[in-house]
Amino acid sequence: MATIMRTKLLPCVVGAMLLNHAAAESAGGSQVPPRSQISDEYKWKITDIYANDSEWDKGFVQLRQLIPTMTKYKGKLASSAADLAACLKARDQIGITGGKLYAYARLHRDENNNDTKYQALTGKAETLLTEASAAASFIEPEILAIPESQLAKFRQAEKELAVYSFYFDNLLRQKKHILSPAEEEILSRASEATQASETTFNMLAHADMKFPQISDSKGNKLQLSESRYRTYIMSPDRQLRQQAFTHLFGAYNQYRNTFASTLGGNVKKNIFYTKTRKYNSTIESALEGDNVPVQVYDNLINTVHKRLPLLHRYVALKKKALELDEIHMYDLYTPLVRNVELEYKYPEALELVQKGLEPMGDEYLSVLKQGLSSGWIDVYENQGKQTGAYSWGVYQVHPFVLLNYTGRYDDVSTIAHEMGHAIHSYYSQKHQPYATSSYTIFSAEIASTTNETLLMDYMLKTTKDSQVRMYLINQYLESVRATVYRQTMFAEFEKLLYEKVEDGESVTADFLDEIWHDLNAKYYGSDIVVDKEIDVEWARIPHFYSSFYVYQYVTGFSAANAFAASIQQEGAPARERYLNFLKSGGSDYSLNLLKKAGVDMSSPEPIEVTLAKFEKMLDELEKLLRNS
Ligand SMILES: [Zn+2]
Repeated sequence: MATIMRTKLLPCVVGAMLLNHAAAESAGGSQVPPRSQISDEYKWKITDIYANDSEWDKGFVQLRQLIPTMTKYKGKLASSAADLAACLKARDQIGITGGKLYAYARLHRDENNNDTKYQALTGKAETLLTEASAAASFIEPEILAIPESQLAKFRQAEKELAVYSFYFDNLLRQKKHILSPAEEEILSRASEATQASETTFNMLAHADMKFPQISDSKGNKLQLSESRYRTYIMSPDRQLRQQAFTHLFGAYNQYRNTFASTLGGNVKKNIFYTKTRKYNSTIESALEGDNVPVQVYDNLINTVHKRLPLLHRYVALKKKALELDEIHMYDLYTPLVRNVELEYKYPEALELVQKGLEPMGDEYLSVLKQGLSSGWIDVYENQGKQTGAYSWGVYQVHPFVLLNYTGRYDDVSTIAHEMGHAIHSYYSQKHQPYATSSYTIFSAEIASTTNETLLMDYMLKTTKDSQVRMYLINQYLESVRATVYRQTMFAEFEKLLYEKVEDGESVTADFLDEIWHDLNAKYYGSDIVVDKEIDVEWARIPHFYSSFYVYQYVTGFSAANAFAASIQQEGAPARERYLNFLKSGGSDYSLNLLKKAGVDMSSPEPIEVTLAKFEKMLDELEKLLRNS
């Protein structure tokens, strides 16, 4: 994707985990209607971006004309503060217009993927944005070439540069890791070749690998695939779970040496760039982008370690509740509670979300109400519509939210989740100039998860039925297991892997299997049978090709739980701090913004708060199961 745009689509990983959970319960279902049968009140209003396609065409021409207003400063950024400011402003204008152009085409495309007209417009917008990004590529090297004392003088003299203050600081911070122009050119020319490991991984895992047919306990033959695996592994049919598990990892195991080579190649690539750019370690260079100290990462792992006994208790409870003699790796995903069919009509869902988010206060609720009633959301599934859910903020317009609402509790929770993103975008874009309007990935899932947590707490506060309580608690416990514990295990795997390779060990399948096996044994405890098949699971995790990335799921989830807890306990002052965090967009480093709002991610506290809640919920589930 073009780098010039600051607005972006959020694929919502934490939400997706809960969604997958729901998908297992109801595959198939009723006929999907064509879009024409959906009433307009349930559709988003893309006309808020451009009134029609011919207005979009005008926007396209306008963007073309904007590019030279930026490139005319090429080679001149060092000559005057006014030129520098004018160039950056022109780039912002391109970003704003480009964001609108791309969003209009892409949102239309997502309404119906079979519509070739908007596929073409999306492609056209992409091409122009790539062109615009390439045209902007002179800016940063030129700024970095300006002597620092001169840049400081520019910044003092030119008021228009004030909005770029954080941008300059952030750029200068990384200056010592930027090489000479000739060296940078060699690195950039090598980049396609150094991507080969990841490309090979993707080809093998997502195109070439074939999975066999398996059978459930009734003898039905079912085709196994990566996406179906997620459904099968949650099935109440233990034979189906076991078969899916054995054959999925069996397939990976056949290619274990190739996967060890692709992952190892990726590790070596990163170590090469680490050394070339003069970082002390790969983890340091990966966290440097967001200015996150390694200590935050270590703190996460250490704090979760201290609370592993809780996960062991959860495993033991699963074993007991599922009445198993032995609990295996393939029993971990199946829910403890079944037969709860919660269904909510869309207006009921909106009512619940608004009730659940009452602790956020009137100001937040009025924005929420506005969003729920003025064309931000595309509610129902239709033929050809993009699956899943996302939120997308369009600068100078408003956020857009794609849903595929079917009425389950997860769908209600998804509304709270996506509106969390949407309102974060709304506040950031309203209170920040374009230059600082975009929040980081590190911050992104905080606003969404805070809302999910508040909704869950409201549901628990108002639900007396013990079956429904068990269902809700199971949902919460699973989200902590999948997000906090599992992603921390991933983060620890990456840390161990890089440490060993940076110490000179070579990456083989046996070496990776051993690290993975030991981590599973440590995280899930003595009750679980760590089946041999799981050892190769490292081979299927695509995130390991975006190194030291997954820890942000855990920090985001924990920060959200800490915010929700403080808003509930403290009320107005905590709410105020939280809203200020939402309004601050990308105006400072994520860790600083969070600290100002009262959540310090370098301390164990946010993670401890989250796991204390996990413990409380676990206590209650144990009690409920005993009495049921
Ligand atoms: Zn999300």
